[in-house]
Amino acid sequence: EAPMTRSAAAFLREQRVVPGGSMRHASWFPPHPPYAARGEGCWIVDLDNRRILDCANNFFSLVHGHAFPPIVAALTDAIANGTAFGLPMEGEIALAEALAARNPRLAQTRFCNSGTEAVMAAIKGARGTTGRHRIAKFEGCYHGSYDHAEVSLESKPEEWDDAAGNPASIAYAKGTPPAVLADTVVLPYADADRCAAILKREGPTLAAIILDPQASKAGMVPMPAEVIAAVKEACRRDGILLIVDEVVNFRLGLGGISPLFGLEPDFVTLGKIIGGGLPVGAVSGPAERMAVFNHAQGKPKVALGGTFSANPLTMAAGLASLTHYDEAAVARLNALGEALRQRVNQGMEAAGLPCRMAGAGSLFRLHLGARKVADYRSARPLPAETEALPRIHAAVLEAGILLTPNCSGALSTPMGEAQVAQIADALIQAVTAEVRA
Ligand code: PMP
Repeated sequence: EAPMTRSAAAFLREQRVVPGGSMRHASWFPPHPPYAARGEGCWIVDLDNRRILDCANNFFSLVHGHAFPPIVAALTDAIANGTAFGLPMEGEIALAEALAARNPRLAQTRFCNSGTEAVMAAIKGARGTTGRHRIAKFEGCYHGSYDHAEVSLESKPEEWDDAAGNPASIAYAKGTPPAVLADTVVLPYADADRCAAILKREGPTLAAIILDPQASKAGMVPMPAEVIAAVKEACRRDGILLIVDEVVNFRLGLGGISPLFGLEPDFVTLGKIIGGGLPVGAVSGPAERMAVFNHAQGKPKVALGGTFSANPLTMAAGLASLTHYDEAAVARLNALGEALRQRVNQGMEAAGLPCRMAGAGSLFRLHLGARKVADYRSARPLPAETEALPRIHAAVLEAGILLTPNCSGALSTPMGEAQVAQIADALIQAVTAEVRA
């Protein structure tokens, strides 16, 4: 019998002190993930000394891969000066300025420590501005784990429709307060007429509509222009604020994803790459919107704080990350992603494999099956695919490449054409083996 790997031993140890033996639901897969020992560029070295090409990039938060030298240098400088102060620092100004310089819509910013917090802050900001408490979100879309944002993240087909045929508000966490469900309107991602009808009815009660126009859980396919038009129309008509969640998709354009979809959000939620690999979140928007958080004239409508918000390490790493993700770097990485999707899709088609790669720019997601993916419902794997996906994930990992457990991924700037070829070939081979089995 083969000796136990160091990762397997670590997992045994972790199960004793951590429920499920994992700190995160999303990053666990059976029998257990390899444990990372360190990272360099686009590579992870695991506890058993295996080199793994990292396409998970900590759930798309690392746009420069691991230990990117300019980020290491910025952090090394910052850390020697102390890691947390109950005073403002210049670093937070510089990172807020860097965001504003990339997109004038991000004129003002408040930093926090996760995308979840950013979404919560934006929703509270919209409530404080409008005096309304209900929100609308799109079915199956992930915006972190704030109660209202989590509604209808996952649901079974028999739960999907309410009596009127509209998407039902389904609790994700058991024990979700019924008021949370009642106060969260769920919209269909790819049905503009239904979306408009729901918003016509519910619009006057809504503080905000939150959307991600290329939502990973909705298949990583673009939200149709007609749906976006219906949202804009409702916002204009009923005074609803628009929150665009760019926690993942900010990387798709220099100024984020909103300009690519013609969106003019009242609040933008950010996270992931703007922290350079450290914990981060941010809510940004025009000054007149961000005024809801302004405490300078007495108690603000909505108070925002956080012991470690805008901590100097995150600010330093974030600034280095964005500085080196300039217009040319964004264009290069987007083109590399386009090349990957083309290579995979042409290869799958040539081999007659019922499998397509969706995504945009440097983000990708594999779909099994030949149906058109348009939303959460059609992106949801069928029972046979639910069994095949983990096998494909495992085969690709065996070939030395880490994807997220649902076979999505993100490219990083240290990657080049050699990595694209390696990823494409491993995916095609894994799907071929699955289909032939
Ligand atoms: N919004 C989106 C679109 C996300 O993908 C995520 C996390 N993957 C979040 C919000 C929450 O971010 P965090 O994990 O930093 O709380």
